[in-house]
Amino acid sequence: MQLIPLPAFSDNYIWILHDGQRALVVDPGESAGVQQWLASTGVQLDTILITHHHADHTGGVAELREATGARVIGPAFETMPEPLRRVSGGESVEVLGIRFEVIDVPGHTAGHIAFFAPDAPGGPLVFCGDTLFSGGCGRLFEGTPGQMHESLSALAALPGHTRVCCTHEYTLSNLRFAVAVEPDNADLLGYQARCEALRAQQQPTLPSSIELERRINPFLRTAEPGVAAAARRHAPATGTDAVSVLATLREWKNVF
Ligand code: ZN
Ligand code: FE
Repeated sequence: MQLIPLPAFSDNYIWILHDGQRALVVDPGESAGVQQWLASTGVQLDTILITHHHADHTGGVAELREATGARVIGPAFETMPEPLRRVSGGESVEVLGIRFEVIDVPGHTAGHIAFFAPDAPGGPLVFCGDTLFSGGCGRLFEGTPGQMHESLSALAALPGHTRVCCTHEYTLSNLRFAVAVEPDNADLLGYQARCEALRAQQQPTLPSSIELERRINPFLRTAEPGVAAAARRHAPATGTDAVSVLATLREWKNVF
C-alpha cells in the first residue's frame, strides 16, 4: 500500500492511497492531476473520500466520478456533490480492505469529518482535511474555538505514530507562528529546520505524525504554561482555560 500526496492548486495535496491496482483519493479539488496519475499508473480509482464542503476539496469530484465510476463517501451534514454515501462520527467504512473510522471534527466547517485507519498497512493514518495542519489548525469559518479545541483534542488522542495527512502545505508558515509562540521549544526549532530543508527541495513536509504534532503544534499545546503565557502577552484578556488560549492563538495567527 502506497501513500502519495499529489500536489494541486498552489498548496493543496490530494492524498492517494493505493495497492498498485485500486486507489482511494481524498478531497480532490480538481480532477486533471488525479486522472493523469491514474492513466500513467494504470491504477483504478475505487473510492473518493471527502472531509468537508469547500471547493478546493470537492471541485473535482463530479468529473472523477464520471470518468471512473468511483463511489463517493463524505460528510453527512454538509452540502456535497450528489450522489454520495453520507457518514458521521462513530461510523466505519471499509475502503480497499482498510477500515476507516469516521470522527466528527467541527470547527473549520460545521460538518467537517476525518477518516482514521487504525490498522492501515504501514501503520495508522488519519485524513484530517483542514482541521489539523502540521504546526497549525484550520481557520474557524463555521465553528467555535470550543468546537475546534474538542476536534483537535480528539485527533491528538490518536496513537502517536498515526500519520497525519492534512490537505495543505502550510507547514512553514505555521511553524513561523509556532516559533513566535514558543521560541524556546527545541523540538519545534529542529522540526522547522528539517521542514525548511524539505521545502527548499520542493519536497512535501507531510505526512506528519500525531506524536510530533503534540510536541510542536501550539494549537495542541494550549494547556502548556508557556503557550498560555504567550497568548496572554498577545491578548491580556485571554482566560486561563485551553479554549480561551486557543481562541487567542487562532485570532493572533489570522493577523500574524
Ligand atoms: Zn477548507
Ligand atoms: Fe482547503
